[in-house]
Amino acid sequence: MKYSVILPVYNEEENLSTLYDRVSDALKKLKCDYELIFVNDGSRDHTPELLNKLHSKDKSVKIINFSRNFGHQTAVTAGLQHCSGDYIAIMDADLQDPPEILAQFFAKLDDDYDVVYAIRTKRKESYLKRMGYDTFYRFLHFIANIDIPLDSGDFCVMNKKVVAALNSLPERNRFVRGLRSWVGFRQIGIEYERASRHAGESKYPISKLFKLAFDGIFSFSYVPLQMMFVVGFIAINMSILATIWVIYQRFFTENYAQVPGFATTVILVTFIGGVQLFSLGVVGEYMKRMFDEIKQRPQYIIDSTSGF
Ligand code: UDP
Ligand code: MG
Repeated sequence: MKYSVILPVYNEEENLSTLYDRVSDALKKLKCDYELIFVNDGSRDHTPELLNKLHSKDKSVKIINFSRNFGHQTAVTAGLQHCSGDYIAIMDADLQDPPEILAQFFAKLDDDYDVVYAIRTKRKESYLKRMGYDTFYRFLHFIANIDIPLDSGDFCVMNKKVVAALNSLPERNRFVRGLRSWVGFRQIGIEYERASRHAGESKYPISKLFKLAFDGIFSFSYVPLQMMFVVGFIAINMSILATIWVIYQRFFTENYAQVPGFATTVILVTFIGGVQLFSLGVVGEYMKRMFDEIKQRPQYIIDSTSGF
C-alpha cells in the first residue's frame, strides 16, 4: 500500500517547510509507504533550491520542475501522470487544505469509495472573492452537462483506478475538478473548513481565475452555444414584430411622419451588434479549445525531475 500526495507549487518559498512538516507528519501516522510529488510550476523565488534540500534529506520527496509557468491545473495533471501510489491526494501548497484531515479522507477510500472530494465551508477569502466563487459554482452547476458538486475544489483523494481514468483523458485545457466528476465511479464529498493561506500572496490573479472559470464553463457545457440560438431567435422575432408595426403605421395610420425612429434604430443596431459580437466570442471560446487540441502541443515541458 502506497500513498501519493501531489503538491503544485508556484513561488511558495514561505510555505514549503511547514507544508513538508505537516504533510509528512500526517502521512507517517498512516504507517505506509508514501511519496510527496512537488510540481514546481516555474517558480522564480527560492522554491527550487528549497525543494532540492527537502529531496536530499528525504527520498520520499520527488520533484518535477517545469520549464516555465504552465498553470496550476497543468501542474496537478503532471503530478497525476507521475504518481505511483495506490491512493492519491491532490492538495494546495499554501496549507489552505489541512494535511491533518488526509487520514479521514483516505479512510473513506477503504470504505469502497473511489473518490473523496472536499467541500469548502466557511471560506476565509475576501467578501468579493467569496461571492465570485459562490456565483460561479452555482452557475456552473446549473449549466454543466455533468453533475459537478458545489464548492468542491481540487482537494481530494482518489484511488489509482480513477487516476488512470483521468490520465487517459487527453484534453489540454483541463478543469481537473470537472474531469474528476466526469469520470464517474463512487464519489463522496466531505465538508471541511478552508483555512486561509499560511503565508504569501495568492498565486491566482484575476486573469488566471477567469481562465479557470472559462475552462469549467466551456469544457463542460453547451449551454452558451444553445443560448445564442435562443437570443438570436428572440431578436429575429422582435425585428419581425417591429417590421409589421412600421408597415402598419406607414399604410394604415395618418401619423406615420411622427413615428420616432432614430433612437430606436440606434438602440436596435447596437443591441444586435452586441449580441452578434458576444455570440462570436462564445464560438471563439469553443474554437480556441478546438485549436489547442488540433495543435497537439504537449500540456507542459519538464526541465528536470528528481526522485523518479
Ligand atoms: N499554483 C501553481 N501555478 C500557478 C498558480 C498557482 O502551481 O500558476 C499553485 C499554488 O502554488 C498553490 C495552488 O496552486 O499551491 C493554489 O494557488 P493559490 O493558493 O495561490 O490559489 P487561491 O487559493 O488563492 O485560489
Ligand atoms: Mg490558496
